[in-house]
Amino acid sequence: MKNWVSHLLTVQKLDMRLAALETKYRTIPLEKERLKEEYRAVGEKVISLTAQVRKYECSIKEKEMAESELTEKIKKIQIQSATAKKNSEYQALMNEIASTHAKISDIETEQLKDIDALEETKKALLVAAEEKKAAERAAKTELQDLTETAEQIKVEALSVKKQRKEFASLCEPAVLELYGRLREKDRTRQWLVALNNGACANCALKITPQTLNEAKKGQVTTCDNCGCILYDPSAPSDYQE
Ligand SMILES: [Zn+2]
Repeated sequence: MKNWVSHLLTVQKLDMRLAALETKYRTIPLEKERLKEEYRAVGEKVISLTAQVRKYECSIKEKEMAESELTEKIKKIQIQSATAKKNSEYQALMNEIASTHAKISDIETEQLKDIDALEETKKALLVAAEEKKAAERAAKTELQDLTETAEQIKVEALSVKKQRKEFASLCEPAVLELYGRLREKDRTRQWLVALNNGACANCALKITPQTLNEAKKGQVTTCDNCGCILYDPSAPSDYQE
């Protein structure tokens, strides 16, 4: 293999690694945001359930008060009934007592529903509070991991850039410049590709006999179709010429 090919292949390998590192680095803030969002959602569930518990507790208390007011009312009517002079007056008071009892019974039924709902909500709140604690622990660990990953990426990127500089200095300026122009189109793909049975390994187009001949000699050639720089892996090395 020609020196220009092996040097440029190394540069390309380092560029691909750098592009992968950059892509990974860019996802880190999004990952952090996703974690915070998840944690926020669990926290909101606890807030909402706490509000529901308070609502049921208030409702139960209000019904207790309404019930004791009605019980007082019955006592008063009973006292009043003892002094009733007419039978019709007495009967009206008895009817009022009966209807007040019915009201109390309705309130008690509603109150039992509130008590059941309160118990269920309290259980759900306990579960949600545990979930929140677990989410908090997980988020903390994951955030720490992401921060460490970001640091590792920075360190590795610096080392890759340094190596790239060294290998780029070994490349012929003309071919390095051509490669650089191609890379401006897309930094995430390979622009130096091998010949595969007389065809471009990138787009599979058969190349002309003249280009093939040049490639076999180890000259810099490009694909007419996709523009990739082509090389013949079996071309003699510079030392064998
Ligand atoms: Zn091609």
